Amino acid sequence: MSPATSPLAALGGDPVITEPHGHFSWPPIEAADRAAVDLQLATAVSIPDRSGIVAELEDNLAAWLGVRHVLTACTGTAALHSMYAAAGIGPGDEVLVPAYTFHATATPLFHLGARPRLVDVDAEGRLDLAAAADRVTSRTRAVVAVHLWGIPEDHHALASFAHRHDLLLLEDGAHAHGASWAGRLVGTYGAAAAFSLNGPKTLSAGEGGFVATDDTELYYRLLMHSQYNKRCRSEIPAHHPLAPYAVTGTGLKLRIHPLAAALANAQLPRLDSYLTGRAEIAAHLRGALSHVPGIHVPTLDDRARPSWYALPLRYVAEALNGLPLHRFLAAVHAEGACEVDVPGSTRSMADHPLFQRPGDLLPGYAESDGVAAEDYPAARLVHGTTLKLPVWHREQDLPLANAYTAALTKVALNHKDLL
Ligand SMILES: *Cc1c(COP(=O)(O)O)cnc(C)c1O
Repeated sequence: MSPATSPLAALGGDPVITEPHGHFSWPPIEAADRAAVDLQLATAVSIPDRSGIVAELEDNLAAWLGVRHVLTACTGTAALHSMYAAAGIGPGDEVLVPAYTFHATATPLFHLGARPRLVDVDAEGRLDLAAAADRVTSRTRAVVAVHLWGIPEDHHALASFAHRHDLLLLEDGAHAHGASWAGRLVGTYGAAAAFSLNGPKTLSAGEGGFVATDDTELYYRLLMHSQYNKRCRSEIPAHHPLAPYAVTGTGLKLRIHPLAAALANAQLPRLDSYLTGRAEIAAHLRGALSHVPGIHVPTLDDRARPSWYALPLRYVAEALNGLPLHRFLAAVHAEGACEVDVPGSTRSMADHPLFQRPGDLLPGYAESDGVAAEDYPAARLVHGTTLKLPVWHREQDLPLANAYTAALTKVALNHKDLL
């Protein structure tokens, strides 16, 4: 079948892919995962201190990142919340956040009385540091790096920006376990980093998250924010000023479930092979898609080693006679490439009513704290022109990756039939 001549499936032709849907699922569950969860069921289903599988996972994550402390959490959102709290972000403080991200990068700030200051992105969808500099005020405390789709942000540029403006550098590494910039691992860029271990994330606990930091004082404040009683009592030294608060902490309990910890701990030894496999298939996809009209593959700096949580593609309608993205996507789906999608919740945060009118849901926020969708044109444009592909990691997935390339190519080359 020649993609250039076959009629499009959307117009009654044969689809490129006929295998039933569900071409990508995550995480891969193997016997080792089942055994680990089974063992945990027989050991403990609740862990109130830093022991057992929770301690094991935290030790392994800390060794893997090369950081002094890791504290697990029930979700990545909770990890971000604790990270901001432990970094001392409080009422009235401002934090610079890229406008194009998943909303949980910023929403925990609302629960600390702080103000996310959305910063528009550059043409590639990355934090625009010139725009960020314009948003710095005397209340700005931190800047957050988000390594969207697993493509690492520029560590040098961020560190010098943070230094120049006397800001904490924090990270949301939820897309980027194992990604690195010039050899520097995501999660070690600044004062602290939060990660998600949610279902589809490259390292998965099903549900979970963690914060990584080298700063022991910050670690104690993480404990205060998200744990209480046994764990705080056993880990915070008796002479420490926070010790009297150990029984209650701040009153929140955000700890990970031991069964989730067991799953993540069983997955962790395979993370490197996931990343190596994804890098190979991503390179293959990027090469194959780079000549397809209407599709731009991401350009990569030589220093960047992405983790490829997904492969983001930019759709250039002008190269396809103005064919709207949704029509292109529908035709790609008709070819059976059902995993190609337009990111839904990862978008310009200024599009969300919560960011436009936070005071409607949250106490203490005025109308002037809201943002207008049209003030973040680059974030909107990047979101409105991005398609994403899963990045498989096994060699036996290569034919499927090739079939996806063939589907995208076929629709692009025959796009005139859709006009
Ligand atoms: C998934 C994700 C989060 C939130 O993590 P959860 O574990 O789902 O709470 C935060 N930021 C980004 C960029 C994410 O992708």
